[in-house]
Amino acid sequence: MTTTMPSRHDAVRGSLIVARRIATASLRFPAAHDITHQWLLGVGAVILAAALFLASALTLGMMIDHLRSQMETIERIQTVVLEAGAIAEDLADAHSAAQSAAADPTMLRIEGRNAARHLTGLMAIAPERARTLQSIADLVDGELAALAKGDSTSRAAGALAAFRDSQSVALVQARATAERDTARFIGFALLMALIGPALGLTGITLLQRERDNRRAREMEAELMHVQRLAVMGETAATLAHEVSHPLAAASNYLAAMRRAATAENGTKAGEFADRAVQQIHRAATILGRLRRFIEKRADERTPVAPVVLVQDAVALVGPLESDVVLSTAIDPDLPDVAVDRIQIQQVLVNLIRNATDAMQSSAMKRLTITAERRASGRVEFSLIDTGCGLTKDIADGLFQPFTTTKKNGMGVGLSICRSIIDSHNGTIWAEANPQGGAIFRFQLPTV
Ligand code: ADP
Repeated sequence: MTTTMPSRHDAVRGSLIVARRIATASLRFPAAHDITHQWLLGVGAVILAAALFLASALTLGMMIDHLRSQMETIERIQTVVLEAGAIAEDLADAHSAAQSAAADPTMLRIEGRNAARHLTGLMAIAPERARTLQSIADLVDGELAALAKGDSTSRAAGALAAFRDSQSVALVQARATAERDTARFIGFALLMALIGPALGLTGITLLQRERDNRRAREMEAELMHVQRLAVMGETAATLAHEVSHPLAAASNYLAAMRRAATAENGTKAGEFADRAVQQIHRAATILGRLRRFIEKRADERTPVAPVVLVQDAVALVGPLESDVVLSTAIDPDLPDVAVDRIQIQQVLVNLIRNATDAMQSSAMKRLTITAERRASGRVEFSLIDTGCGLTKDIADGLFQPFTTTKKNGMGVGLSICRSIIDSHNGTIWAEANPQGGAIFRFQLPTV
């Protein structure tokens, strides 16, 4: 009886190839900053599945070997039982040859030779039973010799029957063991067939989900970049708006300087020249800031006292119309805010200009700038004016780009203000002034 089974070597080699394919498909290494718990879990599950696959292939290989050797044992015991039966038959034939009316010594010799041949075969098949078989062989020889002399005592037949019985019991046991081991083998194979793929599938699903998440993150970054480009567009539009103010102020100062010089008031001329230089400097700083923004450089955040921010902004706006009353109420002990100084100045300057524009036709032109600490710990800046106030239609889209009621307005100042405040993790909003006019407030986190 021959059986064809895959060798252990084939099973291991096959499983190694599959494991390597799974590993290369799943373990595409992400950048260090992209490694997440989910990715680690997915990789862990895939590696575990591959290891399980390898281990089960090895175990299955070993089990195949084990079952094969069990089958060989069963085959061998079956042959032993058959051979022992053949010897018993030879012996019985020898007895009938000896006991027949015409006793035939030739037949007796032939049966004796047959029995000896079968015994030699048995010894070769079951060397571990050599001693028992040798004693049976001695008994068979003695019995044949006795038969030749006409004595028909039968001692070998009993020993042979006992040997056959013991081999039959061994055969039953070997079959039972093989059946039990086969059942275990099938159980193990089924378990592996369930656990291994389930684990591998879980790992691959986790890795795919992680890949999708990464793609989503990349798309979010791309979207942010697109938004940045949009803001850049707004910024470019506002550049004209922002730069025109310091340049106008500078030209005012230069005109004042010329007047002062003509009036031969040298000291005033020097002061106006300084202020003009300061404004031109500011225009250059705005341009530099824009260039840096386009180049995607990180903001320069430094701790600045709120009072300094307001003072700088007021100085940058330059002289206001003579009937505008500007007052500030800033707690000098407020904590510093971590800001990009130029950007927040830009916000304040824009809000001050809007307030003065809104108050152009007001009888009372009062602008109050306050800064105080709120319960949340943030510093809140407020610009309270007595201007025309916010109309319903403008209030809704106030911070949207290109919302303007001014004849020459661009409507981008407030949207830029909101971008700047958002980028500082702050909030900006507007509300009606109960005394008439508008209040613009923004909050910034402290250092
Ligand atoms: P622009 O100044 O070019 O119009 P802004 O975005 O700075 O652009 O302002 C948008 C609009 O919001 C202004 O046109 C104006 O109608 C309104 N606005 C801004 N500030 C005030 C304010 N303090 N009082 C009343 N309306 C204001």
